Amino acid sequence: MEMRQITLNIPDTQKPRVVIIGAGFGGLNAATGLSDDKFQVVLFDKHNYHTFQPLLYQVASAGLQADSIAGPLRNLFHKRKDFHFRMLKVLSIDPVANTISTSAGNLKYDYLIISGGAKTNYFGNENMKKFASSLKSIPDALNLRSQLMQLFEWASLNSDPAIEDHILNIVLIGAGPTGVEMSGALSELKKHILPKDYPRLDFNKMRIYLLEGLDRVLPPMSPKASARAQKDLEKMGVNIRLKTMVQDYDGETVTIRDGEPIKSFCVIWSAGVTGETMPGLPAEWAERGRLLTDLNCRIIGSYNIFAIGDISMMKSDTYPKGHPGVAQPAIQMGKYLAKNLWALHQQQPVKPFRYFDKGSLATIGRGKAVADLPGNIMIGGRIAWYIWLFVHITFLSTFRNKILVLTNWIWNLFTYDKGNRLIIRPYIRKGDEKARAVYAENEVGS
Ligand SMILES: Cc1cc2nc3c(=O)[nH]c(=O)nc-3n(C[C@H](O)[C@H](O)[C@H](O)COP(=O)(O)OP(=O)(O)OC[C@H]3O[C@@H](n4cnc5c(N)ncnc54)[C@H](O)[C@@H]3O)c2cc1C
Repeated sequence: MEMRQITLNIPDTQKPRVVIIGAGFGGLNAATGLSDDKFQVVLFDKHNYHTFQPLLYQVASAGLQADSIAGPLRNLFHKRKDFHFRMLKVLSIDPVANTISTSAGNLKYDYLIISGGAKTNYFGNENMKKFASSLKSIPDALNLRSQLMQLFEWASLNSDPAIEDHILNIVLIGAGPTGVEMSGALSELKKHILPKDYPRLDFNKMRIYLLEGLDRVLPPMSPKASARAQKDLEKMGVNIRLKTMVQDYDGETVTIRDGEPIKSFCVIWSAGVTGETMPGLPAEWAERGRLLTDLNCRIIGSYNIFAIGDISMMKSDTYPKGHPGVAQPAIQMGKYLAKNLWALHQQQPVKPFRYFDKGSLATIGRGKAVADLPGNIMIGGRIAWYIWLFVHITFLSTFRNKILVLTNWIWNLFTYDKGNRLIIRPYIRKGDEKARAVYAENEVGS
């Protein structure tokens, strides 16, 4: 559909207008909690759905369908009187004129809440950006799912002995929660499903490498949780390489500083994120890609712009480097701002934001997870897995999402199946011009 002459179509208002950029965990909670009687609320996002990022890896590894972790935004705000959602990318902010700019025009705000989250950080490595896959959004997860399934299809057609030994190799760079959870899911695919799908392929040749620059997996979690996760993953056949600094990837070979290169056609980059900062803001408002705020989530240097979630850097005595880039700080900051914005508008004193750390969780596979709970308690195994299942179901955005995820998980539990091994639209890496031509010529997946 061609878009001609578009405009924002936001009605004028006598109330203070709050513009929110991003409907992730932070923005969604702020938008949900703000009262239409006091404010006009305008929410912008590049997508018309909220993404439940913690389960992206299950979409990429064919365990869940994409819709089950996406909550349609308009549906979530049906009952609101003065709430306006627009599916647009915010291009820039003018903090002097108090306007944001989008492809459909500019909009004035009285208050602006920036909750644009984080984006993949390749640390300037252009090859990595071109050839490695990332996992930050639903399109990313669907691309990765296609890439993996195409790899197996290609391997089943391959007659070239020069690549036979490494065609099924998969390399994950970064052993944070995404790398750990994805490598566990891949090893389950390899054990329970792929040999049945491709009986002629030798899956002993499918090696899953998990590379990490630091000296343990799950660096944000406790050393006990790291040790347990490492033990479980190694039992599942994942090749873990710690203190391993990846140098480059040319689409076929991962080069490693002081180490043996690894051949692979599928490399997943989960080694870093950086804030999704906005053009127009003064450089001194940001530190390492995150926007510096006071304890009311207000950007230091501004009176009416706030930053919450992954994009924000609120330094406090307990968190001198800002809060961890996980869902809970974003959720709690969104709720905090929704609760306190009216008082801040009236220049009344409000209590500073305090993050309540509920602990962290990572799943490794069926019946296997690790949980760092408040009070320095670490639990691993089946109980941690049940907690993980419960927490994830609870925080999914809609009832439909909860039902879809639960039924998929019950199905997977009893059948050991992952029913979403579909190549709906083929994925071709940005640097693979030859593959693009071959796919087009053969009309594969069209
Ligand atoms: C693969 C993965 C696994 C994770 N696992 C966990 C986990 O197990 N537990 C946990 O607690 N956390 C996990 N996290 C982290 C967690 O998801 C984030 O910390 C959380 O989403 C941050 O919320 P946010 O609101 O700051 O940003 P996000 O949820 O990232 O939302 C940002 C939103 O802003 C929109 N946006 C960005 N720029 C613009 C723009 N210019 N215009 C319009 N819209 C824009 C985006 O489309 C997006 O919807 C994971 C993250 C990833 C990627």
